[in-house]
Amino acid sequence: MANPSLLILAGDGIGPEVMAEVKKIIGWYGEKRAIRFDVSEDLVGGAAYDVHGVPLADETMARAQAVDAVLLGAVGGPNYDVLDFSVKPERGLLRLRKEMDLYANLRPAQCFDALADFSSLKPEIVAGLDIMIVRELTSGVYFGEPRGIFPDNEGGRVGINTQRYTTEEIRRVARSAFELARRRNNKVCSMEKANVMESGILWREEVQWVHDNEYPDVALSHMYADNGAMQLVRWPKQFDVIVTDNLFGDVLSDCAAMLTGSLGMLPSASLGAPMANGRPKALYEPVHGSAPDIAGQGKANPIACILSFAMALRYSFDLGDEAARLEKAVEKVLADGVRTADLMGPEGGTPVTTAEMGDAIVAA
Ligand code: ATP
Ligand code: MG
Repeated sequence: MANPSLLILAGDGIGPEVMAEVKKIIGWYGEKRAIRFDVSEDLVGGAAYDVHGVPLADETMARAQAVDAVLLGAVGGPNYDVLDFSVKPERGLLRLRKEMDLYANLRPAQCFDALADFSSLKPEIVAGLDIMIVRELTSGVYFGEPRGIFPDNEGGRVGINTQRYTTEEIRRVARSAFELARRRNNKVCSMEKANVMESGILWREEVQWVHDNEYPDVALSHMYADNGAMQLVRWPKQFDVIVTDNLFGDVLSDCAAMLTGSLGMLPSASLGAPMANGRPKALYEPVHGSAPDIAGQGKANPIACILSFAMALRYSFDLGDEAARLEKAVEKVLADGVRTADLMGPEGGTPVTTAEMGDAIVAA
C-alpha cells in the first residue's frame, strides 16, 4: 500500500520555523516507528507570491486536492500589506479552504496541566479541560446574499448581511461533529439562537434530525449561543464537542481557546467531505498567524503546529494512538518546565528556542 501523503505549505514568517520542528517529528516516526509519509512541499502566501505572482499557484491547488492531508504554517507579513487584495497572502489560504470545500473547522481547547496557571480562569476550572468546537466554515452570515451597503429610503444607508443555512449545509457539519463525538466521549452540544432566528430554528431541527436518524448513540443537547458563551467561561468542562454556525463559532472558538493560554499552543483542522478512502479532505494549521514581530529570531513556539500534525495523525491517517503519543510528549516537555518565551510567566526564566522545543519533544 502507498504511504499516506502529506503536502506541507510552510508559508511566511514563523511558518517555516515551526514547520521545521514538525519535520523532525515526521523523521522520528519514520525512523523509530516505521511510519512513513510521502511528504511534498510547496509555496503558499507571500512566499508563493514572490515566485509566482499569486498567493497560491494552480499546480499547488491541484496537489492539495490530491493528497491525504495538507499541513500549513502561516501566511502574510508586513512586506505584503501593500499588495492588491486579490493577491494578498491570506487569499491563498482562502482559496484552499474554498476549493477543498472545508466546511467543518475543528478548534480544540485543551489545557495541559503544566499551563493551568496560564489561563485567565482559575486553574481548577481549566485543569484537564479537553473540548472541541466544530464551527461551520463555508456558509452562514459571512456568505449569505443579499449583502452590501445600500441607500435607504430616508437618504441614509443600510448595511445588510444575510444569515442563510440550507438543510444539507447543516446536516454535513452536524455529521462531522457526531463522527468526532464517537471518537471522543459521545457527547455533542449544538449552539444557535433558535429563540430569535429562523436559521437557528432550522439548525436545531436539522442537527436533531441527523442525530435521530444517524447517530442516536451520541448524547445531543441544544443551547442558545449566548448562554453557551457564559457556560464556556463558567464551567467549560461540562462540554465535550460543541457544534455551531460560522458566526457563533468564530466568537465561541476564540473564547474557548483563550481558556487555555497561549496562541502558540493552539492547533486547528478544517475538514470537508469524505474522500474515496473514507477520510475527510483536510487542512491542518496552527491558529496563530505569521507573527512578523518574532519571525527569524528562533522565538516561536512550535507546539501549535506540532499539535496540528497530531490532529492530522488522528483524523487523516487513522493513527490515533500515535497522535496520543505525540500529545503525551508535548505534555511531558511542558511538565518538565521547558518553555518558549510565550509560555513564560511574569516571574521570567530562560526560554528555549523554537528548535530546542522541537528537540525536547522528539526526545520525549
Ligand atoms: P493573523 O492576522 O495572521 O492572524 P495576527 O497579527 O492576528 O496574525 P499572530 O501573527 O498570530 O497574529 O501574532 C499575534 C501575537 O502572538 C504576536 O505578538 C506574535 O508574536 C504572538 N505569537 C503568535 N504565534 C506565536 C507562536 N507560535 N509562538 C510565540 N508567539 C506567537
Ligand atoms: Mg489574527
